[in-house]
Amino acid sequence: MTTLPRSQETQEELDFLKRTKLGFDKAIQFISSEIKPVEKGVVEFLQQPFRQLTVRFPVQMDNGSIEMFTGYRVQQGRIYEPTKGGIRYAPDVDLDLVTALAFDMSLKCQVVGLPYGGAKGGVRCNPKKMSRAELDRLTRRYAYEILPIIGPDTDVPAPDVGTSEREMGVIYDTYKMFNPQTPYASAVVTGKPINLGGSKGRKEATAQGGAFVLEEAVNQKHVEGLGSLKDSTVVVQGYGNVGFNIANILNDDYGCRIVGICDSKGGVYCEDGLNPRKVMAYKESTPDQSVIGYDGFKALSQEELLTSPCDILVPAAKETQILGGIAKDLEADVILELANGPTTNLADEILFDKKVFVLPDILANAGGVTVSYFEWLQNKAGESWDLNQVREKLQRKMTTAYNNVVETSKLYNLDMRSAAFVFAISKSIDIVRERGIFP
Ligand code: NAD
Repeated sequence: MTTLPRSQETQEELDFLKRTKLGFDKAIQFISSEIKPVEKGVVEFLQQPFRQLTVRFPVQMDNGSIEMFTGYRVQQGRIYEPTKGGIRYAPDVDLDLVTALAFDMSLKCQVVGLPYGGAKGGVRCNPKKMSRAELDRLTRRYAYEILPIIGPDTDVPAPDVGTSEREMGVIYDTYKMFNPQTPYASAVVTGKPINLGGSKGRKEATAQGGAFVLEEAVNQKHVEGLGSLKDSTVVVQGYGNVGFNIANILNDDYGCRIVGICDSKGGVYCEDGLNPRKVMAYKESTPDQSVIGYDGFKALSQEELLTSPCDILVPAAKETQILGGIAKDLEADVILELANGPTTNLADEILFDKKVFVLPDILANAGGVTVSYFEWLQNKAGESWDLNQVREKLQRKMTTAYNNVVETSKLYNLDMRSAAFVFAISKSIDIVRERGIFP
């Protein structure tokens, strides 16, 4: 089995957008030489975002001052409408990051077979330093600014880092105020509170979908050195929505031992296993909202935690976390990429040589957008599915996606990430051809 052409960990590779483009170019070269010819125009059509909106807007702060913020919404992959993707609030949000994340979304939707293009949005801000009221005002104004390009059939936002169902509720309300006649207006966002039409199972969907993919990989004996999930050890990087839920699901439903957990400030490790809920309760009780100091355990750095002994490593924080140096020392048998873009290409190659099985982001974390799709369908049909229905449908989607990627990997002798790219891009090319170019 091979990876697509080898790379150096240059500054370029640490840049998420450049890395994404590199992955796309390599996959296109492979498709052109091994599968089918691809016209240059189709490559450009699939690679370039079709809309990049930058907005600058004022927000009144609690102390009466006015601050200016910059927000973005990028839409990508116009093979299906609506486009779909989360909204991120973080200090490092910029147009390149949002564009890279939108690009990932368009591939992800094809991996799991959803009739969506990709999108992403974000506001450059530090939500941890803002009050609830300030964040609500920021969200309402940002929603107003992007209103002309979102809608249930055009572009549908969802939560991402730094946002949650609360922000989705505010965006829905703003949209509805300006579009009182729109039927199914609640389908303008997913990941909303259940009272506003949110789906059961959406909050934990990204983690649950990842757990289904991991279960399938282990059951099919694709992870060398890991015969069963029961009693396997897990390290989780990032302890927000996705990190907390995966720790709970693997601990409660699969009998895994969560031995390490970290957030942006550092982590804790305990060979005997940590109780995910108690760690979260501790984190929430500390002034700087960190797991450091939990139960008197020694504080570890990010790097120490990522290279700690474990069977399963779950990056669930942000992009560009597993670099070549970390990959070299990493001990896990399998990496479940719940974060978007956590691994550099050089790290990928090192992991490949070490026979670490990587479940790539565009497959592993697609459970979030999948249940978002279920939410959108429920909103349009005026239905509310029960949790079992959501879980069963999610499991079917995730295992089918896993098996499609495995099949591509076997057919073309590719690693899982390259296979996921080749699968998604090949499908997108077919859709462009079948749909034709307007006018
Ligand atoms: P979140 O804001 O709820 O949590 C992020 C967590 O990561 C926080 O605890 C933060 O402190 C921590 N963190 C930030 N930088 C870190 C670092 N360098 N090291 C360790 N921890 C760090 O966000 P989330 O919704 O849980 O998203 C996490 C990841 O999952 C992101 O990459 C996101 O794009 C991806 N993702 C989320 C969803 C979703 O449905 N929420 C879907 C698909 C992918």
